[in-house]
Order: sequence, then structure tokens, then C-alpha cells
Amino acid sequence: MSEANKALDAIVVGAGFAGIYMLHRLRQQGLNAKVIEAGTGVGGTWYWNRYPGARCDIPSMQYSYQFSEELQQEWEWSEKYATQGEILKYAEHVVDRFGLNDGIQFNTKVASAKYLEDREMWQLSLSSGETLEARFVVMATGCLSKPNYPNIKGLNECSVPVYHTGAWPHEGVDFTGLNVGVIGTGSSAIQSSPIIAKQANSLTIFQRTPNYSIPAYNEALDPDYVKELKSRYKEYRAENWQRGFGADFDDSDQSAFEVSDDERRTEYEKRWAKGGLAFLAVYNDLVFDMKANDTAREFFKEKIAERVNDPELAEKLVPVTPIGCKRLCVDSDYYEIYNQDHVKLVDLKQTPITEIRGDTVVTSGGEYKVDAIILATGFDAMTGAITNVDIQGEGGKKLQDKWAPGPKAYLGLATAGFPNLFIVTGPGSPSVLSNMLPSIEQHVEWISDCIEYMNDNQHVAIRVDQQAEEDWVSHVNEVAQTSVYPGCNSWYMGANVEGKTRVFMPYLGVPPYVEKCEQVVAAGYEGFVLSGNG
Ligand code: FAD
Ligand code: NAP
Repeated sequence: MSEANKALDAIVVGAGFAGIYMLHRLRQQGLNAKVIEAGTGVGGTWYWNRYPGARCDIPSMQYSYQFSEELQQEWEWSEKYATQGEILKYAEHVVDRFGLNDGIQFNTKVASAKYLEDREMWQLSLSSGETLEARFVVMATGCLSKPNYPNIKGLNECSVPVYHTGAWPHEGVDFTGLNVGVIGTGSSAIQSSPIIAKQANSLTIFQRTPNYSIPAYNEALDPDYVKELKSRYKEYRAENWQRGFGADFDDSDQSAFEVSDDERRTEYEKRWAKGGLAFLAVYNDLVFDMKANDTAREFFKEKIAERVNDPELAEKLVPVTPIGCKRLCVDSDYYEIYNQDHVKLVDLKQTPITEIRGDTVVTSGGEYKVDAIILATGFDAMTGAITNVDIQGEGGKKLQDKWAPGPKAYLGLATAGFPNLFIVTGPGSPSVLSNMLPSIEQHVEWISDCIEYMNDNQHVAIRVDQQAEEDWVSHVNEVAQTSVYPGCNSWYMGANVEGKTRVFMPYLGVPPYVEKCEQVVAAGYEGFVLSGNG
């Protein structure tokens, strides 16, 4: 081990938005921190997901950092929903602007992390063969970063190229004239299919479960709008942080049943005409009351029928699950592609895939010869990238074993038995049920403030109290049970990954969560045990 590495205060795993801001904060505190990143560049999600049509679904003016007023004033987004390429450039710009590049080791995976109890240090083994030691470890490994590869017979041996949307080739893929099969109908498929349909000779979409999607109505940003918003950017951000999803969704404080059927219908039309995820905040009970949810479901059903010419096909595209219990998708002309002769839908509920044989996707109802297969099959969300690292805590206990019956983490920030190990947007925090950039910033700031507090007070280690963790996990579940979220087989529940325990993982509600985090600190890190001289 080199001299420089011996003295590390913190190792941050991952160089997405969480990892790069974490590095910046730790350096501002004068700490010797290093980021280890599996990819060859920064950006995380926006480095890996280079499929055609990849964009954010939270408007860019909100899906961006706010920790630096200069940064948020000087950066110019070109579109309402920025492209993957533009968001990646932004991440690279942040790294350059704050001089972070020399703190990141690329092309290196953290394979394992072991807590050395006698020295109260973490020892990490890297794919490069190196071993690093640090007092703190921050898992900034991402909620949606470990691709989920379906277990389909013959997939690994098939004779055509297979691309996962979450690990897309950097050089891009030209589908011109090809017969393409897309497996999955989540956000990644819904964003990419309309563009692939333009190139391909034929596009066959294999749908296991239909999803709700609302138009994005993406457009170039109006400079006057940007100027006006930037004149009150700080205040605007602060207001949004008080809202349920931490984003400007124009949240209503009315129930769906406080208005007449006609008024509700008019309001749904208005929201639809604006497009985007803000639809979910149209009434304050939409994601809490099934009856309210049903009114929106009926509306979506009609909208799908308006967009798809063939009524039988439209019927197959209508979900039966509550709106919102899987993440609402935001599209540009998704349903319309089904009006084109060369685009086909295969309903896997009726005719499941039995195998992929050479260049043919075989279902119980037919055979589909393809030149390329796209796996838009999502991610082992929230826990996958964390348990992918062999993490061994106190008493030799492995995190993989601890979390096998479902992840447990206090505030989603840390987990009992693993001292001085923090998680950014971990299970039990709003994370994926919020605008993730501000949620990442809140976690990074909480963690760096905690480390600063420990250093100022000569604390050596911070441990989660087991009972506090149990209570928090119960609370996360209780809140979830008041909503429609646990009502379907979503990745929020771990239901998309074979063998994964079904537990609702994110915390619903940004404001109460932030308040709780602040209370914990004000009460001297309540629910944590600080050891050392302090
Ligand atoms: P990531 O960006 O996932 O970065 C994690 C990094 O850790 C990766 O680079 C990975 O290579 C690295 N890593 C993981 N394990 C290891 C290891 N063992 N060793 C070394 N490196 C490792 N959220 C929103 O709020 N709004 C949106 O519009 C939105 N759009 C999205 C679109 C797509 C296609 C996807 C997949 C997600 C989207 N999200 C969105 C969620 C998005 O993941 C977050 O907004 C955010 O980018 C996450 O940043 P992160 O740094 O926490 O994680
Ligand atoms: P996803 O939402 O999990 O969708 C995966 C799709 O693949 C689902 O339709 C799923 O069906 C299907 N699938 C999985 N395994 C399958 C199998 N073995 N056989 C057949 N079908 C299978 O994944 P995603 O589309 O990549 O999106 C994940 C999340 O990333 C989103 O929810 C969102 O948070 C984020 N994202 C955002 C955007 C954006 O608009 N900004 C774009 C992409 C992703 P089931 O539903 O039946 O499991």
C-alpha cells in the first residue's frame, strides 16, 4: 500500500452525482478522500444509460445541483428535459469546475470492504488488486445502477447482439434496417422505443406488465422563463423542498372527491396537457386512496385509447395496477408507435417467453426472429449495487446476509453493525420517490456534517442503534401501507428481481423525512452511538 493511500480519511464508492459532491464536501473539510468508480468517467446513471432517447423526467432546472449558487446560475440547460448527453456534460463540468478529477480512480470496482474492529478502520479490496484503508466509507453506488438481466433460457448463448439499456455501448448502436426486439416496457423502453422504431425495419416489444405513461411535451427552454426562474432560484428550490416529492409538481391540497366529476375531469385534462410527473400531485389523495387513484386510472385508459388506433391493442397497453405504484413513465410519442405497421406488441402475460433460440425469441404463442435484442429490464434497485460489494462489518457479519430478508438502514443513511459506513440515498430514505438531486445533496451534507462533528469532538466511530433502526424500518413500512405503492410488483418492492425479498424500500414524503434527519442531529445524533473521546 502506498503512503498516500494509507492516510485516507474516507473512500467514496461511485462517481455519480452523489460521489462527486461527496468528494467535494469532504475536501472542503480538508479531508483526504478518494472516489473509486467502476466506469471510465463520471456521471453514474448518465454515464451508463446511453440508450437512444434517454433523458431526465424531472425538469432539468430542478434536476441539477443547488449547492453552489454560482454553478446553478452559470449553467444553461437547453431543454425542459435534458438529454443523457447534456446531463453527462453537466456532471463532467461540475468535476472540472471544482477540480475533483484527481480524486477519482476510474475503471476500478470495489470488490469488498471489511471492518477491522481492532483498528476501527475499513479495508477495501479493489478490482485492480490494490487494498485501501480508510476510516469512513461512503456507498454512493446508486439506486438504479446494477442492471437486472432476465433469466431467460438461451439468452446468454443467442446469436444476435444483446444490449441492456443500463449498460449501453458508448459508440451507440445503429438499428437502421434491423429487426429489433425490446424486452420490457418501463421508462427505459418507453423512452427508447419511439426512436428505435424510426430506424428499425421492425420493432417487436415484449411486454410483461403495461405501464402508465404521460407525454413529456419536451421543448427548448425559453430564455425569459430561465431568466425569471434564476432570479429567484434559491427561493424556488427551497419551496420545492417543502413538497412531498421535493419537486415542483404544483401539489394540490385538495382531495379528488372535494370536486365534482366534471371539475376533476377538467383538472386531469389540464395536467395531461402540461405533461410530466406532476400529474401525480393533481390531488393530495391520488397515491393514498384507491378510489381517487381509480378516477385517474379511468382517465389514463381513455387517453391510451385516444392514442392507439386498434382498440384491442390499446386494451393490452392499459395497466391494471394503481397509477404511481410503479414509477409513472414520461414519453415522447410512445403509444403512437403502435399505429405503425412495423411495430408489434407481444403480450407476455398471455404468451410468455419460453426461450431465446439463436436469433429467435420464442414465446408460447409464436416465434420472433430478430437481429438485435434490447433488454430494457431495469435494475436490481436500491440494494443491488451495495450488496454487490462483499461488505463485512462487526463480528464478521455480512451485509448481504443482514439484508437478505429485506434491507434495514436507519434513515437510509447507515446500518447497524457497520460502523462509519454511510449510504447515499439508501433504502429507508425518499431517494427514488423524490427529485433525486436535492435528495442526494441532503444526504451528502448530512454525512459530511456528521463526519465534521465527529472530528470536532474526537469521536472515532458512529454506530446505528439496533432499536432505532428497527423502529425506523417499521415506520417506513407503516407510511408505505397508507399509500397505493405496495400494491404492485414494482422495483420499489424488489419484485422485479427473482428471489429478492419483497419489502417496500423507499420512504414516502420528503418534508417529514428531512425534519426527522434534522431532529436526529439536534438531539446529538439520536439513534446513533458515538464512541471515542467525545
Ligand atoms: P449513480 O448515478 O447510479 O452512480 C453510482 C456509481 O457508482 C456508478 O457510476 C457506478 O459505476 C458506481 N459503482 C457502483 N458500484 C460500484 C463498485 N462496487 N465499485 C466502484 N464503482 C461502483 N432521478 C431523478 O430524480 N430524475 C430523473 O429524471 C431520473 N432519470 C433517470 C433516468 C435513468 C435512465 C435512470 C436509470 C435513473 C434516473 N434517475 C432519475 C435516478 C438516478 O439514478 C439518480 O437521479 C442519480 O443520477 C443517481 O446518482 P448516484 O450518484 O446516487 O448514483
Ligand atoms: P423498469 O421500470 O424496472 O422496467 C423494466 C421492464 O422490464 C418492466 O416492464 C418489466 O416487467 C420488464 N421485465 C423485467 N424482467 C423481465 C423478464 N424476465 N421478462 C420480461 N420482461 C421483464 O426499468 P427501467 O425502464 O430501466 O426503469 C427503471 C427506473 O429508472 C425507472 O422507474 C425510473 O425511476 C428510472 N428511469 C427514468 C427514466 C426517465 O424518464 N428519466 C428513464 C429510464 C429509467 P414487469 O413490470 O412485469 O417487472
